[in-house]
Parts: sequence; C-alpha cells; structure tokens
Amino acid sequence: MGKVAINIATGSLQTEDIIVGIDLGTTNSLVAIVREDSQQPIALKETDGLTLVPSIVHFDEYNNITVGNPAKDMLLKQPERTIYSAKRLMGKSYKDVSKEAGFFSYNVIDDDTDSLVKVQIGDKFYSPIELSSAILSELKKRAEHILKVNISKAVITVPAYFNDAQRQATRDAGRLAGLDVLRIINEPTAASLAYGLGAKANEEKTIAVYDLGGGTFDVSILTISNGIFEVLSTNGDTYLGGDDMDRAIANYWSEELGIPADDKMAMQHLRVTAEAAKKHLSKNDGFEGEISGKKVTLSRDKFNELVQPLIDRTITACKNALKDAGIAKDKIDAVVMVGGSTRVPIVKESVKSFFEKDVFDDLNPDEVVALGAAVQADILAGKNTDMLLLDVTPLSLGIETMGGLMDVLIPRNSKIPNKIARQYTTQKDGQSGMRISVFQGERDLVKDNRKLAEFNLTGIPGMPAGLPKVEVTFLIDADGILRVSAKELRSGVAQSIDVKPQYGLTDEEVEKMLLDSLTHAKEDIGTRALVEASTEAKQMLDTTEKFISKHSDSLSEEEIAATRKQMAVLAAAINGQDKDKIQQETEQLNDVSRPYAERVMEGALKDAMKGKKVL
Ligand code: AMP
Repeated sequence: MGKVAINIATGSLQTEDIIVGIDLGTTNSLVAIVREDSQQPIALKETDGLTLVPSIVHFDEYNNITVGNPAKDMLLKQPERTIYSAKRLMGKSYKDVSKEAGFFSYNVIDDDTDSLVKVQIGDKFYSPIELSSAILSELKKRAEHILKVNISKAVITVPAYFNDAQRQATRDAGRLAGLDVLRIINEPTAASLAYGLGAKANEEKTIAVYDLGGGTFDVSILTISNGIFEVLSTNGDTYLGGDDMDRAIANYWSEELGIPADDKMAMQHLRVTAEAAKKHLSKNDGFEGEISGKKVTLSRDKFNELVQPLIDRTITACKNALKDAGIAKDKIDAVVMVGGSTRVPIVKESVKSFFEKDVFDDLNPDEVVALGAAVQADILAGKNTDMLLLDVTPLSLGIETMGGLMDVLIPRNSKIPNKIARQYTTQKDGQSGMRISVFQGERDLVKDNRKLAEFNLTGIPGMPAGLPKVEVTFLIDADGILRVSAKELRSGVAQSIDVKPQYGLTDEEVEKMLLDSLTHAKEDIGTRALVEASTEAKQMLDTTEKFISKHSDSLSEEEIAATRKQMAVLAAAINGQDKDKIQQETEQLNDVSRPYAERVMEGALKDAMKGKKVL
C-alpha cells in the first residue's frame, strides 16, 4: 500500500509518487507517464494540444527565462539571447566543440581550454547544465500543471553514445531542476521498451534502432537478454536530419526561381515552405505553394530524388553499425523507427529494404523515446512487475577532487556488477603522493556525503604538475563489494582497497541522503560552479605568473603592468565569491595575455624551425 498525501498546491489527492519519463532532445523535449487505468504510456499534452516543447531557452535583458515555443519565436529576433541545441554542448570542453562553433548563433566561450564550455549572454555565463535544467524545469512545471500533483522523480533519456561526463551533466541538470533522476537510460533502449521489446524474462533479441530527427541521425544495435539491454554499437552523423531535407528542397527551388543562395531572408522563407512541402509529401503525391507571389511545386518523385543522397548516408551508417557490432543483417530481430523524419515514406522504404524486414513504426516517432522512459519509470515505481528490475547501486560512489568536490564514478542506480575507470593528475610540481578518498552520496561537496574509505597512492616519480596519469578504477562485484584501485600509468605505481558500500546504511538513511541531495540541489550546484570557477581562475593566475616571469624579456612594461593589474582584479574577484564575476575576470585576463602569449609562442615556434632549442 502506497502512502496517501494531499497536494497542498492543488488540493488534489496524491496516492503515490508519479515517476515521469523525459526525453530531453536536441530539438524538442517531452514528458510521458504510464496511465494508471490503461497501463499504457502516453505523452503529456498541454491545453494547447501540444506534447513537444522546443528545447530552446531565451533570456531577456533582465535574465528572465522563457522556454519552448515562446523562446522559439525569439530565434530570429534575438539570436544572441536565444539558446538552441544546448544538448550538443553537454559535458563538453571548448576544444570538443571548437569545430562546430560556427553552428551556434550565440556566444560559446572560447578560452580554448579543457574546461567545460559556457554560453555567454550579456554579462552572464551559463553552463549547458543550467540551460538543460531550464528546459527540465519547464517540463516539470507542465507535467505538474497537467497531472495536478508534484513531480519530483524522473527517468531521463540520453543518446547511447553519450559518455560519462555527458550523462553526469544530464543528471546534474535534472537535480538542479528539482528532480530526483532515478535513472538515465539510452534513447534506443527506451524506444525498444516503448514497443515492449525485451519486456519478458528469458527473452533474447537483437534490435536495430534507426533514429532520424531534425538535426541528428543515429543508429544503434542492441541486444536484450534477460532484461539487460546492451548497446553493441552506435553510428551516425550529429549533423544530418530533416533540416537537411528542407535545405535540399530550398536549394532546388532557389535555382528554379533564380533566388541567390546568399539572400538570407528569401532562403529562410524558402526553408519554411520547404518543410511544409516535405510534411505534405509524407501523405500526398504532390505539393503546390507560393513564395513571394511565385508558384512553387514539388512532386513526390522529385523530392525522393533530392533526399536520396541523405538517405544513402544513413544506410551506410547502418552497415557500419552492424559491422562494428559484429552482427549479420539477418540476425536482427526487430527494427525500431524513431524521430520525426522517419515519417518520410522513402526513409521507411529504404530502411525496410536494407534490413529486409518490416519496421516498428506504429507509435508516434516523436514520442516513442519518452514513452519508453515512462515504461522504465513504471518499472522502477514497482508497478510493472512483469518486467525485470536489475540490481542497482542505491547511492552514487565517487572520490574527492580539488576544492572538496565529489566526483561521481558510479552514479546511483547503476547496475551491478559494474566497472569504471577515470584518469586524474597532480596539482603540484613534483607531487609524489595522491590521497584517494572514497565517498558515497548525492551531494556535490564530499563533506556532505559519507566517507567510505581512504588510501594513499605513494611513490609517484617527480614530474611537473599535470603530467602524471593516475587512473582510478571502481569495480563493484555482483555482491556489491567495491574495490577501488589507483595506478600511475607512466610509472606503474599502484595501490588498492576493498570497500563495502552499503554496509551500515539503513533504507531510511539512504532515503534521507537522497532527500538531502534534492533539498540542497540548487545551492550544491551553485557551490560546485563557484568552486570550479575559482579553481580555473587560480590556475589561470598561476600559469600567467609563470609565463610572465619566464618570458619577461619578450614582454613590454605596459604588457606586464596591464597583466599585473588584471591579475589583482581577478584575485579580488576570487575573494568576492561571485561566480559570474570570476569567470568574467578570467576571460578578461585571457584577453589581456592572449596577444603577447601568441606572439611569444609564434617566436618560439620560428626559433624551433630554425633548429634552436625551445624552452
Ligand atoms: P525530431 O527531432 O525527432 O523532433 O524530428 C523533427 C523532424 O521531423 C523535423 O525535421 C521535421 O520537419 C520532421 N517531420 C515532422 N513531421 C514530419 C512529417 N509528417 N513528414 C516528414 N518529416 C516530418
């Protein structure tokens, strides 16, 4: 029997916690639940009849936030204040996204470092986590409005190719939005679950999930065996989707009408009509429209011809995914279609003919991932007992890193057995030891979590800071015993310890730790951001100091004076504990030093070319 509670905000009776499924997409996001009466997953619909919320965030001059369709309306009016595709930035450093920077019409901070990217709007800086959190807050608000209950628990989906940092960032975004993220699941896994694939015990299946959205394409090959999904391979193109079809049509028309491709306004208009034509052709054989008083037409055949090269690229990706998975085409038991662009008939036909199989396409391809997340949520809520529930870790496990931050290696609800390794390095020149402190809990600062064990890795040979590579490995065996080991990869020095994570914790304690993490989510993430900004700023001060003392001969007095002045301002900002201010002044110091740093580096490079020694 579940608890009965009354929601004070709405006056409604809340019988049990509802866990929602959320598809946090690159272009659109949505929420789904499993209906209590029919046991079927449904996407939540607002009074406007819409289930999809565009994943777009707009900030006005006073930093008021709007999300979804109202934000989408601002895309053309205030491009520098309207953020789309924040998902592409999740868990990435500027180096990771530098090649794609041209794609964004807003300002992605380019300090060309390994630190995580941020977006600058006016004098404020936002992390992709904060941006995604704004979208999740909106989804939470919508769900609460529709269901008339508080929503505090969710399952969120991510692409199968997301790495650890990107998954952790998604989890943090959820927490910041006041959601306890019970599990992060792969989008293709969710899509399969929505169709009930892998729902039964003893079922073994190999599934291909073909996901063609507005801007991205991926295909995944999964196996499901006894309720355990495993992604064997993924392939795709993060810049291929329905938008490219629209562009192909627009280019064709622009040639026909004699509109130059650099006429931005006209091309924009063409693209909007092109998308309408494409959608029309999913159901009809021909399209007729009008652009600036001129008639445009498009037959289904011509459209098929225009998009064929794009579809060919997706089929090549399917071949590669099969090859990487080591699976022959005829061993695929089911093909699942995901993403709005799979509504295009020729896409469907091409996929069917490639796999020589009918495809699963009965569910709405825009909703199928969220529906599957809802099915997973239902299993976690213990309502769906037909499906398997795997053994999982109740709380996150991690180690202490700079500034007393908790670095999670195994997030809570990860299945066991499990193994993960991550590399760390030293902060001081010649540092010969490293303390590995293992913690359990959901808070961002280790002091608020539970310490499980601690050991020292000693005997690291003297090297400059940042050079040693210390790999920390967490291994949980099937009995829930955690073994933590650390190894310096250059020298081979190693050390390890056994920990029993759950020992001594009652269910109530676990619950309290989870609740604490939710209550403190906002302040925790604020603290984390501040600690990270300060650490980065301190490193910047350190590097700059070293640089100017080493190259003082090559710098003018003015340059040194300007640098010293900005260093003092930055040091003061660190004391002031205002994250945005610290980031702003770090940027500023970067701007002051960049010109001469580049000059000195270029000089050194030239000397090196001449065969001189570079220091
Ligand atoms: P998604 O990213 O999954 O939301 O997919 C959105 C993409 O699906 C956009 O490129 C849409 O133009 C496309 N789309 C939506 N409906 C249709 C349709 N009926 N026919 C063809 N493409 C569509």
